[in-house]
Amino acid sequence: MNKPPNITPITVAELLRWGRERVGVDAEVLLSFVTGRSGAGLVAGGSDGVGRGEVRGFEGLVERRVRGEPVAYLCGRKEFWSLALDVNPDVLIPRPETELLVECVLAHAGGNGIAALLELGTGSGAIALALASELPGCAIVATDISPAAIDVAVGNRRRLSVEHPGLGAVEFCVGDWFEAVSGLGRRFDLIVSNPPYVAPGDAHLQRGDLRFEPRAALVSPRNGLAALEAIIAGAPRYLNAGGMLLLEHGYEQSPAVRDLFARGGFIAIVTHRDLGGHERVTGGLTPPPLTSAE
Ligand code: GLN
Repeated sequence: MNKPPNITPITVAELLRWGRERVGVDAEVLLSFVTGRSGAGLVAGGSDGVGRGEVRGFEGLVERRVRGEPVAYLCGRKEFWSLALDVNPDVLIPRPETELLVECVLAHAGGNGIAALLELGTGSGAIALALASELPGCAIVATDISPAAIDVAVGNRRRLSVEHPGLGAVEFCVGDWFEAVSGLGRRFDLIVSNPPYVAPGDAHLQRGDLRFEPRAALVSPRNGLAALEAIIAGAPRYLNAGGMLLLEHGYEQSPAVRDLFARGGFIAIVTHRDLGGHERVTGGLTPPPLTSAE
């Protein structure tokens, strides 16, 4: 790769131009990250000189971006639900479309009030922490099979609880789906998950950010349905009567997912579309408590 122009001292504007030619608009994000300047600061300070260390740091990040590494991993940060989350290659990068899952939980909580919530496969803790910021009175448990992911989530909780003093309680545990809460006799008013749902041979796995993300967070056997199926089959044992299960899934999986919900005994099964118009989230309720007919 060509080096940045060898002029001493190199200016912010020159460095940005060099980066833009290689990685387009990502150059601004990376240069902001390296120099600590905002986007506006890069424009306003275009003629400022940049120190050698920062030039080298920026050059290294641009090279890695050219090789395809996700911007979120290069900066170690991704915004989700207006919260800045630490991310690394041990966790999936939170997606904007997953905010729909948070919206669906909040819509349900608004009408029903939920005191106890379980999130499965939390990764960076994005969903659980977004919900903790909105539902401070709700006790949230979030689990993941990966101890490395739970480390990331716990770090995010620690930092965000300082930045957002009103953040509700989130208990992070390591375990395979319901394993961490099995045997405790615990039940929840709502269970939410964005599990792996990409089919093993899916061509998307060879493209973009997905090449660098943990396979276990993306891919599930049986055409991407195995994890969804395991969660739907297990959930009724951990839900209170009238409790809700809400799951993100692939946009072509909604008929199969609705069928699994129905076979699991769920009622009031509804699929919601994301901002791209894709069927992305399906929810269902366990039957309400039996009342004696008087
Ligand atoms: N929606 C993600 C993607 O295809 C997949 C996330 C997941 O498997 N939960 O990029």
